[in-house]
Parts: sequence; structure tokens; C-alpha cells
Amino acid sequence: MEKTSVSSVPELFGSMVFDDRVMRARLSAKVYESLRKTIDEDARLDETVAEAVAKEMRDWAVENGATHFTHWFQPLTGVTAEKHDSFITPSPDGGVIMEFSGKELIKGEPDASSFPSGGLRATFEARGYTAWDPTSYAFIKDHTLCIPTAFCSYSGEALDKKTPLLRSMQALSRQAKRILKLFGKEVKYVRTSVGPEQEYFLIDEAMYQKRPDLVYTGRTLFGAMPPKGQELDDHYFGVIKPRVNAFMEDLNNELWKLGILAKTEHNEVAPAQHELAPIYSTTNVATDNNQLTMEIMQKVARRHGLVCLLHEKPFAGVNGSGKHNNWSMATDTGMNLLSPGETPHENAQFLLFLCAVIQAVDDYQDLLRLSVATAGNDHRLGANEAPPAIISVFLGDELSAILEAIKTDTPYQGKEKEVIKLGVHTLPRFSRDTTDRNRTSPFAFTGNKFEFRSLGSSNSIACCNIMLNAAVAESLKQYADRLEGAENFESALHDLIKETITKHERILFNGNGYGEEWIEEATKVRGLSNLKTTADAMPHLLDEKNMKMLMAHKVFTESELHSRCEIMLENYCKTVNIEGHTMVDMVRKSYLPAIEGYLFDLAQATSYMKSVSENVKCKYETSTIERLSELTDNILENVEALEGSLENLKGYSEIIETSKAVRDDLIPKMDALRKNVDEAEMLTSEKCWPVPSYGQLLFSVY
Ligand code: ADP
Ligand code: MG
Repeated sequence: MEKTSVSSVPELFGSMVFDDRVMRARLSAKVYESLRKTIDEDARLDETVAEAVAKEMRDWAVENGATHFTHWFQPLTGVTAEKHDSFITPSPDGGVIMEFSGKELIKGEPDASSFPSGGLRATFEARGYTAWDPTSYAFIKDHTLCIPTAFCSYSGEALDKKTPLLRSMQALSRQAKRILKLFGKEVKYVRTSVGPEQEYFLIDEAMYQKRPDLVYTGRTLFGAMPPKGQELDDHYFGVIKPRVNAFMEDLNNELWKLGILAKTEHNEVAPAQHELAPIYSTTNVATDNNQLTMEIMQKVARRHGLVCLLHEKPFAGVNGSGKHNNWSMATDTGMNLLSPGETPHENAQFLLFLCAVIQAVDDYQDLLRLSVATAGNDHRLGANEAPPAIISVFLGDELSAILEAIKTDTPYQGKEKEVIKLGVHTLPRFSRDTTDRNRTSPFAFTGNKFEFRSLGSSNSIACCNIMLNAAVAESLKQYADRLEGAENFESALHDLIKETITKHERILFNGNGYGEEWIEEATKVRGLSNLKTTADAMPHLLDEKNMKMLMAHKVFTESELHSRCEIMLENYCKTVNIEGHTMVDMVRKSYLPAIEGYLFDLAQATSYMKSVSENVKCKYETSTIERLSELTDNILENVEALEGSLENLKGYSEIIETSKAVRDDLIPKMDALRKNVDEAEMLTSEKCWPVPSYGQLLFSVY
């Protein structure tokens, strides 16, 4: 592989992206202006412009080695999809020319019948269509020009994650502009930005290949704990090992070429666990970039004889992987609406936007929770390593005290010691709260942005941002409706903020989110929801209040919501179902025969030893044989029970029922089986054990 010297990074950066620099350089001024208007202001794209852009895009792509193009989209499978077409068109002289039209740029018609649609697309209408999203730049990957697109059915219903994301961004922009107008600010748009911090594991490829559970399900379904885990805290921010370092260098180069702002990388808490954080960007671009990052991480790892695990919980008993969604709102003029201001007026505006988020999180806890719900993430949330399944907001002590003072019209105990009158007083200066190291909060204010920490490492960030944007748009809409009609803006604003704090303070919590006491308090005293599994959370998508809000802001249609709920639950059931079958397979084909082999060795050894002398006691051999044979009996019993559960699942016709059976019957059976096998692993000689151990998987990369 080509090595890139540091001095060439600026040159390398974005070299495979048809970005603003390329557009400005290659497009005529008129075409460029027109395209910019589409990108920045949602203006309709006219056909001649599309034609001109397509021509330049093709020339640029071909110059950079591309032979194919694809509409790149994000179906509901959670991964990205692409179908490549080459640029070639036969020419009269028997050769070929490279062609790409405006039509091909704007719209594609992939056969959509194999993507999940949750009943949206009748089977007779297999085709869906993809539509260019000019707000996310086209790029070249594997000699293919990739055009970011939205994916819809012929009746216009969204079959992807990008369409509702773009709709939610528009909804938020619309409402935020109304609020800003009340503060005397006319802006072109308000956009949300996201910086997603991505965790992952790296393990040796040869070891990976020997573990069917990793190969089929992305996580280990069995495995006794190694003698050493993460208790010494010696991995977090530790020295990066050479092989990992080579991987990271290579990864950075690949990401930089694609214009992805990979910035920070370090070792994480668990052995073999790492993190990569990019610099934040507009939400839909950040979403595209995060999908690409995950894909490229896996690809680059293979080049280094490694496998990148993006599963939320690859190893039981070892920290899992999450993703932190750092989120903020900013205007086209670069004003961050979550930055506390300098003047009373700015402060009031900041507090109003802050309240909008607090209210949104409280009113739509369930939507945020279900937006990160997957079978994989269920292993983390509430397992004392990730934020609990209960959603709450952390503001830090100072900001909380300020809100409390406003709520009660009492002097704030900070330096100023005066009653804060919004729009009249400046807010007391509060430092960026360093107690944000409180990592137990699912939704933390960190100075000028919120950090949503419940995402699983493999989640698309689209899902939670759709819900977050829509919910905040709803708070803002309510505020705008009320304030637009107010006689005295300042006092109406003051009342509104006071009321909001009073009404929604139950969602504010600065304490330890991992504690048992919090679960008690949150659920019993405060009435917050605690949706522990995907099966519990997902059906709430169809709660009346949620559907009403999402439809009112035109983020989803009714049928889209039904189809999404169905698809997500189906995905949950299928995922666990595959895990169950993989367990049966491994137990019957590998573990039971392996234990049997070891038992035979022991038995043979015992009888040989006894034939030498009557005085040999064979205590070790006998006790091991007794326990192991007991365990194999249990294993057999448990694997048969698991097979029964898997069979039973076929009997349900409603997906909600199936998902409950998965939660209440299948998963407990899997857990019971695992327990027996893990104990047997500890008693069986390593030589006889058919797969690499946790110790080997976690500590073999240097
Ligand atoms: P941490 O302490 O969690 O490492 P950082 O300040 O390093 O926090 O930021 C983590 C992520 O947050 C990065 O991806 C960063 O680009 C992103 N970020 C910083 N400011 C903003 C913002 N205003 N809006 C959205 N994301 C942001
Ligand atoms: Mg962070």
C-alpha cells in the first residue's frame, strides 16, 4: 500500500469527493450557483443543470479512475446498498464511450424487491426508485462513482433511512426559523450537526474464522471469561499496538480521501477495543460518512489480517461498543443555537432552545429509546456499562441551579446572586461543566451540544437523529405558536421557560445513572419509562402521540410508521433466531463431541492408571468426568429446549407476539445453554476445545 507522508494530507483530503472545491472549479458559474441554491435552500433542481453537473461529474470520475457509477442508498437493512452500472455505451465504430446523463444522476431504478419494505411495496410493484441527494457530495469508492440518494417506493413512500432524516431536518429548520424570527433574526436555514464517536473491536482474522458465532452473528455466543479482562484499566488510552497503529493509519488515509474528517483515535476500555471520532458535520452528511466509516473500517481491517467487530456486545463480561451522537443546531450564519450567549437577549434565546430539547426528550423518551433498539444493543443498555434504558438529561450542577433559580424566581446562588429576569439579565457565567465525565447519563449537555450516548456501535445514526430532530421541531412549534401571538414577548417568554422547566424537570438527572436507586426513583417517583428490550420499546412507535407528532411534521406517513415498526421487530427476531440456530449448530457439531473426546481421554487415562496400581486415586480424573458428564447431560437438555423454542417461533403470525416469545422464551433458553457450555470450557483441556478462547481472541493482536 502507498504510504502517505503527513505533508500530503491536505492534498489527499477529499481527493475522491466531488465536493464544493471541485464543483466551483469545474462547473460554469451559472450551473454552480443554481446547484448551490438546491443544496443550501432546497430549490428545485432544473434539468439542464442536472445535465451539466452529470457531464462534469463523469469527466471528473473517469479522470480519477472510475469505470462505474452507482446510486448509493441506505435501505432499512441498516447497511448501505449499491448496484453498479458502468459508464460504457457502444459507439458506432464498435468501441465504447463513457456516458452518464443528467437523468441517470437524478434518478435510479434499482430492483427493490429484496429490500425490506414491511408491506409498503406490493410484490407486483417490485421497483423502487432512488433520488439524488445533492446535499451530500458524490464520491469515488472502488473505481465507482457513488451518488448519495434517497430510496422510495413508486408511490413515494420512503424505503430508507435518509428520506425521513432529510424530512426531519426540514421540519426542525422550519420551526427554528420561526423562533429566530421572534428574536429578530432572519436566517436561510437551521441545520443540525452531528459528530458521532464510533467504538469497535479489532481481532485477529485467523482466530475469527475459527469462531462460527463471530462469523454468523458478529458476536460470541459462548466463551468463559479470561483470567484478565479490563480490571486493570490498562487499555483505555493505552499505547496503541503496532498492528493496530498500521490499521489506523491506513484507515485514516482511506477516510480522508473520502473527505471524512477522521480526527481522534484511541484505545477504549476493553482489551482490543478502540474508538474513532470525526469532526462534526451536517447530520445527513455525518450519517453518510458514518455508514462509510463503518464499511471502510471492516474493509481496511481485512487488509491487515484483522477483523473489525462493530457488534454492540461481541464478548460477554467485557465492555460493549457504543456510539455517541454529539448533536447541535446552527444557522447558516454559523450561530450555534446551543451556545450560551453574551447578552440577555442571546441568553433568553439559548434557554428557549435548551428548553425545547429538554421538553423533546421528556415528551418523546420512548421514541429516542426505540431509535437505538436492536437485539445487539439490548445487551448494553442497562448493563452497567452503558447508559440505562431509561432516558434522562444531564445538565451539570451549574446550569441546573440556574434553571432552578428561574423556575422559583429565587436569587441564583452564583456570583451575581440576583433573580434572573429573562431578556433583562445576562445569565450568570457558568463554566463548561467538567462533571460531564458523568458518563452514566444517556443524554448530556456538554457546553454547546448534547451528547446522546445510548446508540449501539452498529446503529445507523439516522434513526436517533430523525426522532431527535422531529421531537425538537415539535417543542419549537408549540413555542412559536404561543409566542407569535404574545402581546409582551419578553414576559411571555419568561413564563414559557418557567413553565417548561416546571413541567419537564423530571427528565433532568445529574446523578449516577447506573445505580439501582435511580431505576427505582426514575420509574416509581418520576414516572419515566424503562423499556428494557427491543420487544418492549419498538411497539411504542405506533403510540398515538408519537404517530401524531411524526405525521404532523411530515417526517413519516402512517403506512411508513407501520412498516418500520414491523421491519425493526422482524430484524430483532431474525437476529436472535440466527443466534439460536448458531448455538445449536456449535453445541451439536463442536462442543458436545469435543467434551466427549476429552471425557474419553480422561476415562482411558483413569483405567490405565488404575491398572498400574490399585493405590492411584484418580481424584482429578474422576471428579472432572463426573462434573463434565453432568454438564453434557444438561447441555443436551438445554439444547433440546432451545430447539423446541426455535420451532415454536414459527407458530406465531403476529410479529409483536413473535418478538415477545423471543424475549421471554428464546433468549432465556440461550442464556441457560451458554452457562453450561462456559463451565464445561473451564474443565476441558485447551487442546480439546474446538474454538479459540476469549483470552486468545482478546489478547492476540500486537
Ligand atoms: P469528548 O469529550 O466526548 O471527546 P469532544 O469535544 O472531543 O468530546 O467531541 C466529541 C465529538 O463531538 C466530536 O466528533 C466533535 O466533532 C463533536 N462536536 C464538537 N462540537 C460539536 C457541535 N457543536 N455539534 C456537534 N458535534 C460537535
Ligand atoms: Mg463524547
